[in-house]
Amino acid sequence: MKILVINAGSSSIKYQLFDMTNECVIAKGMCDRVGQQSSTLIHKGKKDIRLEDVKMPSHVEAMKFVLDALVHAEHGVIKDLSEIKAVGHRVVLGGEDYTGSVVIDGTVMKALYANIGLAPLHNPANIQGIEACKEIMPKTPMVAVFDNAFHSTMPDYAYMYAINYDDYKKHKIRKYGFHGTSHLFVSSEAERLIGRKDLKIVIAHLGNGASMSAVKNGKSVDTSMGLTPLQGLIMGTRCGDIDSAAVEYLVNNTGMNVHEVTTYLNKKCGLLGICGFSSDFRDIEDEYEKGNDRARLAVEMFCYRVKSYVGSYAAAMGGLDCLVFTGGIGENSYIVREKVMEGLEFLGLEIDDKANKTTKRGETKLFSKGKAKAYVIPTNEEIMIARDTLRLVK
Ligand code: ADP
Repeated sequence: MKILVINAGSSSIKYQLFDMTNECVIAKGMCDRVGQQSSTLIHKGKKDIRLEDVKMPSHVEAMKFVLDALVHAEHGVIKDLSEIKAVGHRVVLGGEDYTGSVVIDGTVMKALYANIGLAPLHNPANIQGIEACKEIMPKTPMVAVFDNAFHSTMPDYAYMYAINYDDYKKHKIRKYGFHGTSHLFVSSEAERLIGRKDLKIVIAHLGNGASMSAVKNGKSVDTSMGLTPLQGLIMGTRCGDIDSAAVEYLVNNTGMNVHEVTTYLNKKCGLLGICGFSSDFRDIEDEYEKGNDRARLAVEMFCYRVKSYVGSYAAAMGGLDCLVFTGGIGENSYIVREKVMEGLEFLGLEIDDKANKTTKRGETKLFSKGKAKAYVIPTNEEIMIARDTLRLVK
């Protein structure tokens, strides 16, 4: 049984084809700069290929490139598209309509279109990915796996904002949370490693986008991203938590309008805004080690925010059994893990320095010695999407 997993962004399509008999990835790749003058396809299959300067004016053309690559005589991995039994799509926001994955039909599509207002930066691209697949593979079942679904178990006092209750009801302004598929995957892995489900786990998913969650007895009880992914941690280019009055202040003092300020807070701030030269953590860490003071500030602000959330979520759950680091930064930066753990001994977290510094890329590893466990667990959102897709179409 082969399942194709699609993650469509505004100008990219990432894909993985799974053989679910042994849950292994048989091909994967990415279309980049979709909708621009010239696009790229990177495909790893029977052979690895890179097509530069190809024409992908829309997601439909990009999907055609993907499917051609999968069935190609030399670098493809299947003979015929009919071997793909279903397609699982990552969808950023299902709003309050969906608390779990669903098989996509007309009603689901209507709900996705209706939610565009709540997720204007992400849902349109996800919808384009689905529409493109439906056009080329009209008979293949499709499943939507929502990024906020895992967080739908948050209690009302955690997901509500303190705004007028009628406005919450009317406009659905509340915390939804994102990265749910990743938080679910790594928290399930932590439960498996510890051998119990009755745990209080804090997850730090630290990538270019970054979020934390509090997982109690297998359920998300709080998370740091909000109505949109802008809230919470400091990210590559997003500011995270900020006084909302800063928006009007920026409008009044910079000449930007509200939309421009929102774009600024999403694209020009965060680590990039603080250090001034890059949003990529590797660059910032390099400069930090050379003594660049703005890089130091970016690293320290980033880690301080993560640490504050660990404390907040331990308090919310009444304790902490396990802290998990995942995402590109969480999995690879021992400096970040060290700085976050520093001073958290009062929560039972005690770092094992050697284990922390010798963690290899892609490795799952325990790096604590205290009562509470600290793990690095590489995330795998795609396998969760593939599993849910298989479960729903079987
Ligand atoms: P996203 O999926 O949100 O785009 P990723 O989870 O791939 O992001 O994480 C990307 C981030 O991880 C980048 O800031 C990158 O610099 C950082 N990163 C990747 N490898 C390392 C490393 N070895 N050390 C420090 N940071 C790293």
